[in-house]
Amino acid sequence: MPSPSMFTGHCSSMLELSSQMQSLHLAGLSPTELTEFVEGLGEPAYRARQIFAGLHQRRLRSFAEMTDVPKELRAKLGKRSTASTLTVESRYVSADGTRRYLMKTHDGFPVETVFIPEKRRDTICFSSQSGCPLQCTFCLTAQLGLLRNLTAGEIVEQIIIALNDAYGVSVKAPRGTNLVGMGAGEPFLNFESLMRAIRIMAEPDGLHIVPRRVTVSTAGIAPRIRELATIPARPHLAVSLAAPTDELRNDLIPINKKWPLNELLGACEDFQKSLKPGERFTFEYVMLDGVNDSDEQARQLANLLNRYELRAKVNLIPHNPAEPLPYQPSPAARVETFREILESKGIHAFVRQPRGRDILAACGQLAARGATNLAQTASEFAPAKVESLAI
Ligand code: SAH
Repeated sequence: MPSPSMFTGHCSSMLELSSQMQSLHLAGLSPTELTEFVEGLGEPAYRARQIFAGLHQRRLRSFAEMTDVPKELRAKLGKRSTASTLTVESRYVSADGTRRYLMKTHDGFPVETVFIPEKRRDTICFSSQSGCPLQCTFCLTAQLGLLRNLTAGEIVEQIIIALNDAYGVSVKAPRGTNLVGMGAGEPFLNFESLMRAIRIMAEPDGLHIVPRRVTVSTAGIAPRIRELATIPARPHLAVSLAAPTDELRNDLIPINKKWPLNELLGACEDFQKSLKPGERFTFEYVMLDGVNDSDEQARQLANLLNRYELRAKVNLIPHNPAEPLPYQPSPAARVETFREILESKGIHAFVRQPRGRDILAACGQLAARGATNLAQTASEFAPAKVESLAI
């Protein structure tokens, strides 16, 4: 094992994983850390560059495939570390081409990733946590509770797995790749691992998916929005709003009680100051039939965003239903009227088409459901203690 001091201060998630499994997951290391590790094995630095390229550029998931690395070194690596930790349990393909991967961590927790083929550029939606501690009433993932945070390596590996499946191992994404951190979990409650993964994925000698191709969505962890504003190479921000008043938002997104709309939108105001010219951020608004979709609520939403002078665009997402969630999607005509009201008050609003609903791959449908029980919540995963979370 590398000495813990070697990574002090900036690698807690990695050390956590290595102590759990007694093996270091190399996909979660930056090039510099990988070099330190490889040099610690008494090997020259260029071997680290080969290994980094093997993991991230060629997307190899075992040392055995790295045939440019000597056999003895591959054996040495295998004793102390691992190239991959996730296993794909199932893959579901939607009628619209969307693919959902249900994977498992080395310690048995579910991880879901969605590949969404698009005309211009394909998108991969990754998870930041196994399960989710937030108890949003319209989201199926909430029913799992938080199982655990994912490590940076586990986040990176989700993208490697999806790309390999979509295009073939080592085959370059033909049109580049967009990433959205909109899968299971609240990314801003796993901020350090998330940002570490984003930095690793941006490496030109690796996946080379730069932060401006990445959008991260939060249910409203206000202090992290402010922190994100200070990071130069940062991903785009999306904020899940779902309601124009605290009263309703407290019900739908209970974390609102901790950071109510004035705090959340205050943080967004600060974030807006950090935008480059022409850059935008996004609000997501799930449309729940008869709950948050009236003309009056559209006006309240527009007035709210205008009051804070937020020049964000609003994405309206018709609710993706799943048993036993007690909501139905707003009818298309209602969504359109809502959109028109926002536009009439100067708010740019777009309707998002749901993808992968038939395989429970759409927004808010990720709950580790398998093929035989697409209609049931997986109950074999015991939710972790939510109180241990610093929220
Ligand atoms: N926890 C983060 C990341 C998840 S993103 C967040 O809340 O932003 C998932 C997006 O899908 C969020 O905008 C959420 O509001 C939305 N969503 C959740 N459940 C949904 C559902 N059943 N139908 C449509 N959208 C949903």
